Amino acid sequence: MFTLIDLPYAKEALEPVISAKTLEYHYGKHLQAYVDNLNKLLLGSGLEGLSLKEIVNQSSGAIFNNAGQVLNHNLYFSQFGQADKVANAPTGALAAQIQKQWGSIDAFKDEFVAKGVGLFGSGWVWLSAQADGSLIITQELSASNPVTKGLKPLLTFDVWEHAYYLDYQNRRAAHLAELWKIVDWKVIEERY
Ligand code: MN
Repeated sequence: MFTLIDLPYAKEALEPVISAKTLEYHYGKHLQAYVDNLNKLLLGSGLEGLSLKEIVNQSSGAIFNNAGQVLNHNLYFSQFGQADKVANAPTGALAAQIQKQWGSIDAFKDEFVAKGVGLFGSGWVWLSAQADGSLIITQELSASNPVTKGLKPLLTFDVWEHAYYLDYQNRRAAHLAELWKIVDWKVIEERY
């Protein structure tokens, strides 16, 4: 049985970047539904007892969609924090690798947002690590996760409309640009 993760911050902590109302729906309704659906679908599937990553890598159809969305949202919601409390820039090996590949953190952010804006339909933009420590930005459609490509997911922006429509309506680019204010780079570094 999977359960809804606890948020490491209060519902109002991400305002005005993500409103309490968006969290109420996105976390409290959408993610809860993915968790509930996954638990029902797993009964008698032969996949009970596996980790989320294992289920994502070994399933297809409805189980893949719900397990993928639980994994994606768990990584998404746990990477944020209150704007004035988060580590707002990467340091150490991760910062050095971004610098090496993109030339600057801002150039990396620009490409990441552009790939999120350019994703047609619903999905996710990801920063992941490859086995040799190099970094890669990928677009994943619908419920997919970079673990299906053998990558280690580090950072993600959700570009499904349910992630931003209440606060930003159709302005996906504006929403993605604002998200940098609440990304906790300490969490991203720990994943790397
Ligand atoms: Mn979502």
